[in-house]
Amino acid sequence: MTDASSLPTRNPRSGASDYLMPVYNAAQVADVANALRQAQTDWAALSLQQRLAALAELIDAIDADRDALVQALSQDTGRQQESAMEVNGVQNTLRRWLATAPALMSHEAPRRSQVPSILIEQHRRPYVLAGVISPWNFPLMLSMIDAIPALAVGCAVMVKPSEATPRFVPVFQKTIARVPALSKVLGFVTGPGQTGEALIRNSDLICFTGSVRTGRRVCELAAQCFIPAHLELGGKDPAIVCADADIAQAARALAWGSMVNAGQSCQSIERCYVHRSIFAPFVAALQLEVSGLKSNFLEIDQGQIGPIIAGVQAPIVQRHLSQALSQGAKAVVGGQVREHHGGLWCEPTVLVDVTPEMAIMTEETFAAILPVMPFETEEEAVQLANSSIFGLSACVFSRDIERAKNIAAQLHAGAVSINDASLTAIVHDAAKQSFKASGLGGSRMGAPSLQRFYRQQAFMIKDGGADSPWWYPKATDSQIT
Ligand code: NAD
Repeated sequence: MTDASSLPTRNPRSGASDYLMPVYNAAQVADVANALRQAQTDWAALSLQQRLAALAELIDAIDADRDALVQALSQDTGRQQESAMEVNGVQNTLRRWLATAPALMSHEAPRRSQVPSILIEQHRRPYVLAGVISPWNFPLMLSMIDAIPALAVGCAVMVKPSEATPRFVPVFQKTIARVPALSKVLGFVTGPGQTGEALIRNSDLICFTGSVRTGRRVCELAAQCFIPAHLELGGKDPAIVCADADIAQAARALAWGSMVNAGQSCQSIERCYVHRSIFAPFVAALQLEVSGLKSNFLEIDQGQIGPIIAGVQAPIVQRHLSQALSQGAKAVVGGQVREHHGGLWCEPTVLVDVTPEMAIMTEETFAAILPVMPFETEEEAVQLANSSIFGLSACVFSRDIERAKNIAAQLHAGAVSINDASLTAIVHDAAKQSFKASGLGGSRMGAPSLQRFYRQQAFMIKDGGADSPWWYPKATDSQIT
């Protein structure tokens, strides 16, 4: 555990370290955890409606602090549009659970067992303290996406956001404080990986969003602590554009799906396979769409493409780009990472003449770059799409929905968008799990999401018949002597 009580934080627009993040040490994390555990007893004793009423108040509290939240997130990430989207996204997540949780958590009536004379009552017992560890690409949204259903179920929640984007935390803590009931059961701690490890040691289950590398470590530690771990990790999402696709529609969708948040999303489209018969017109359409996107380096409220948020990603992006270009890839749009006043912006980039072995086609590239390559047959497209360690999500474009569904069924990915891209960023009411190295555990989205946060407890009540047939035969006086 680090002794440092604060860490300097880099500003993505200037490269300067202009913020000191408080670092919670192991003892401080344990203190926060203990206070949350104590408050959880009363929280869990509230009715679901009462807990949802507190979560509804958070929607209004966010409204009251909207400008401050968007500003803090913009300072954390160097982009403003997506910061506003994040704030709206958290409110929408709250509304979705307010609307759906009552039916999903409705009381199950006692029922007769198939075993005679036994009545079954099912109860849900929330984990006491859910730990959440989040990354920097959507700092607020990914801190709250699991916290909200956990709170609805009756857990207390302790969140550790990324050390790259901690500025929003004190602002959001003030927002949470506007809802006293919630402020006792929703706590934040800040710090680097060691703080995350302390959080795991003090939690009863862990929801982790981040890289595969850290996910493995989190999973190992969770195993040592004997707690469930739900892991949402990296991706290298493929797109397949069939010969009969609407080219203009596919190009627009993929420009968005690969470039939104400057390509710094887990579900960003990072590989595009296009049927050779439409390759040239598709690339032309994509080129047109992507060349219309502008960096936001002059004014944060202008343009669509923000800076590289995490400094550590910049050399990875540079390596992928320069290796691809030196091995024969061509940039039909963009192709460079540019420095402006200390910040680093990756130009919105479309690459052609790429090969499957290039790092840009195999490793996660957190930047606004879309490599495009042709395929001859759909079998080949499926094989290329599946040739990855990742299995987060994918998309397929075809005018023939049955054909698209047939391809989708062969893809090793937890969510497949059809005739749109990266829909998991928008559609949160469909259950999906990550395949391969992209994650482990229950679905964060859709109805099963809530099930991650409680254990089932069964009461098996014998309410009839004096003797049970599985008991030993009744002892008789003659047996005793
Ligand atoms: P990261 O793994 O470096 O860090 C994620 C979080 O883990 C941070 O809060 C960090 O402080 C913490 N951490 C680091 N070491 C730890 C340890 N030993 N124990 C506990 N916590 C520790 O990831 P990142 O660079 O912040 O985020 C980018 C990654 O997140 C990408 O791979 C991206 O694909 C992934 N991601 C996945 C999803 C998804 O839903 N699948 C969503 C967004 C981002």
